[in-house]
Amino acid sequence: MKCPICGSNKFGDFRGRTNARCRGCGSFERSRLLWLVIETLKVSEITLPFFHFAPEIGIAKKLAGKLGDYYRPFDFEPDIYKKGGVNVERFDLCTDIQKVSKESVGVLCHVHVLEHVRCNAAFVLQELNQLLAPGGYHIFSVPFFSERFRENLSEELSATDRLEQFGHEDHMRSFGTEDFELMFGPAFKGLEQVLLRDLIDSSRFSEANIPSRAITKNSSHGVMVWRKRS
Ligand SMILES: [Zn+2]
Repeated sequence: MKCPICGSNKFGDFRGRTNARCRGCGSFERSRLLWLVIETLKVSEITLPFFHFAPEIGIAKKLAGKLGDYYRPFDFEPDIYKKGGVNVERFDLCTDIQKVSKESVGVLCHVHVLEHVRCNAAFVLQELNQLLAPGGYHIFSVPFFSERFRENLSEELSATDRLEQFGHEDHMRSFGTEDFELMFGPAFKGLEQVLLRDLIDSSRFSEANIPSRAITKNSSHGVMVWRKRS
């Protein structure tokens, strides 16, 4: 086994998952999968901004080194990244997308972010897609906690209720394994989906200790990749 992010071959167990955590960079399966996707798509050769929301620190550092000023890490709460040594700009997905020029971004990337956003998630995806330049990639992942989409944006709902209904104290919604395409497919008009099994050789998944369930459809462990048609 070898970590695709840092090259370490030392792994440790985490919460019952064998060899889940890389001892070199601290990455978990999902971050290693994300890096495999980023590497395979050769995004460091794209000379347009790379927008990374809620960046994974290990990946953010690598991308900042490769992309320089093209790399733009963002978060709703940028201060939490200060000790990680990554300079993150504040960005609110509900109000700031409109401030960015359409078709000006090369790559959009966000992993387990949309479930936290306190506004219409389909609209956020649609607006994000409008930022992409032709040929650009939208790489993202959401947790699936139910068969059907459920949501509650109320500020009255307690953290305990959110944990119970959506799987986490700060989640606004639960994405549905059965109706994700129905709910969010229209936001991807003009883009084509790139399947992980067509993109990455299966031996690379096992080498990075990424579980096979990550490449099944609508999995919390997976990463979805869409490309804007040229
Ligand atoms: Zn590593």
